Amino acid sequence: MNTYGLGGKVAVITGGASGIGRACAHTLARSGADISIWDLDRGGLDLVIKELEDYDYRVHSAVVDVSDSAVVDAAMQDVLDTLGHVDIAVCNAGIGGAAASSADYTDEQWRQVTGVNLDGVFFTQRAAIRAMRHGGRGGSIINMASVLGSVGFASASAYTAAKHGVVGLTQVAAWECAADQIRINAVGPGFIRTPLLDDNLDQETLDVLAGQHALQRLGEAAEVAELVAWLASDGASFATGTFYPIDGGYLAR
Ligand code: NAP
Repeated sequence: MNTYGLGGKVAVITGGASGIGRACAHTLARSGADISIWDLDRGGLDLVIKELEDYDYRVHSAVVDVSDSAVVDAAMQDVLDTLGHVDIAVCNAGIGGAAASSADYTDEQWRQVTGVNLDGVFFTQRAAIRAMRHGGRGGSIINMASVLGSVGFASASAYTAAKHGVVGLTQVAAWECAADQIRINAVGPGFIRTPLLDDNLDQETLDVLAGQHALQRLGEAAEVAELVAWLASDGASFATGTFYPIDGGYLAR
């Protein structure tokens, strides 16, 4: 259990009530950061805040739909008003979406997935860049892509396209923001045991997916949070514009 020396920093985490976002809240708070967690799920946010009550940190939370840019901008302003500045943004909120072939994917299914997984990351990243520039302290933005930001997966066209898009928007913004000392990276988890997987897939499918990783298992959200916390830290001072898989060897085939 590493800590990453994040005392004095403020971190915004979207999708912070569950899975990888919740694990990031734990790891960043344990490393000393003040935390603002955003999610659709008010009850889930309250549970995470209760889990973190032993840490010596300040907390802010907000019910935010990341696919609504006005709501995202208002929430970022509320973080500035409450916690003073923003140093870290983990643009993590995402959904799995429908499983259907590219020929059968409906407009509504496409827009639902890309609205959260692509638009939502772009809107949160944009609000974070503006907040970090205003603060003049630099910062680190970590965008949650997936191994499917690098390769395809049948029946997941919108998800795969959105995650490839997340890698692209990360690379562009990293160049645009380097002079402001704002580093921007994308993380590419393999298949991770979270409600996103557990609620949608049966055990047989989970076992098949586990076998597609060199380590022959699914990942844990806390393992992804370790990479996120490193990218957030000053130890990652030369890391920007890069896609970092954390995938148990999934992409190494
Ligand atoms: P999760 O356990 O379902 O957590 C995602 C959280 O985001 C949920 O609390 C969800 O709320 C929230 N959320 C959904 N739509 C939102 C919106 N429009 N605005 C704000 N919050 C929203 O999923 P996870 O597995 O931790 O996934 C987190 C991220 O990692 C996603 O971007 C996902 O694509 C990515 N990822 C996951 C895996 C994996 O295998 N689990 C692998 C690669 C990448 P509700 O529960 O109320 O919908």
